[in-house]
Amino acid sequence: MTQKSYIRRSIQYLHAYVPGEQPKNEDRAVKLNTNENPYPPSPRVAEALQKMDARRLRLYPEPECDTLRKKIAALHGCALEQVFVGNGSDEVLALCARTFVERKGTIGFFNPAYSLYPILADIEEIATRPVELTSDFQWAMPKKYEASMFFLTNPNAPTSMLFPKSKIRAFCQKFKGVVVIDEAYADFAGENCMDLAIELNNVLIVRTLSKSYSLAGLRLGYAVGSKRFIDVLLKIKDSYNVDYLAQQLAIAALSDVKYMQRNVERVKKTRARITQELKKRGFTVAPSETNFLWVKPSGISALQLFEALRKKNVFVRFFSGKRTKDYLRVTLGTDQQMDRFLRAIDSI
Ligand SMILES: *Cc1c(COP(=O)(O)O)cnc(C)c1O
Repeated sequence: MTQKSYIRRSIQYLHAYVPGEQPKNEDRAVKLNTNENPYPPSPRVAEALQKMDARRLRLYPEPECDTLRKKIAALHGCALEQVFVGNGSDEVLALCARTFVERKGTIGFFNPAYSLYPILADIEEIATRPVELTSDFQWAMPKKYEASMFFLTNPNAPTSMLFPKSKIRAFCQKFKGVVVIDEAYADFAGENCMDLAIELNNVLIVRTLSKSYSLAGLRLGYAVGSKRFIDVLLKIKDSYNVDYLAQQLAIAALSDVKYMQRNVERVKKTRARITQELKKRGFTVAPSETNFLWVKPSGISALQLFEALRKKNVFVRFFSGKRTKDYLRVTLGTDQQMDRFLRAIDSI
């Protein structure tokens, strides 16, 4: 007897996003698998947390995060009306999939890129039109390419490399749909495309406080683009999509951009050192513009190395896809953590 499932087909057969493993004995583990920042957020965040009055939680937060939007707008030299704030940038990306594409439309992205995009398309029952990167994960947009919206991760993940801005600009100018540039790692990179979002009316830039600002646990992301786009995102979001704590602590973090930049410099120093150390050991290491490395081991398969590291309580990320199975994604931790990572490799 077949039973009614009650579940919408697209959801029943959905392959959910798989987050990196959160190890149980966190204290002993070296966790290099979810691109978190190894350094704490600005002391101003801790201060703001201390000053927080629990009684304030009785009230709803600002529905459109205006105080925080003003802060973000000042940071990027745009108007408050050009900023949208979400519960993590993942929420912003999901709202984009819902806002800018008809059911019969298509969502494009590179392969490999952030693996959440096809899932967002599936949830909305929208077809995808992935574009394969070259064999060394470089830009490869076909001449005649069309989609309703394109998710462009830059620098790309998990490959860690930056696409040339000239290519992105030319693509955005020609593309007939919306280009959502996911700049989760832009603070670690030599350049970004924020000016394109302000200049072109079909471009949105999405940023997050999870990586460079060390606030993955807070859940705060935002988008910058034309007022027309921001208005529709505001229209469909949950009334209070960003809670009071997140708004207050994000304001504190964004009041101390210098602190974030110092942490970024530390991560970049570690990035240069570990890139060299891995190359010495015969690894292929992509030129990273992010807080992680995309590496291909030699003399052992990526999967074998992943499993051997895991046994030694060192957690990195392995992606089983055809394009990605020869590589590991290694988040840059503190120098001490990275030394443990290198020692584990040497013993394997
Ligand atoms: C980490 C990451 C995100 C998610 O950021 P949150 O703000 O934590 O939701 C989005 N896009 C890419 C490419 C990421 O790596």
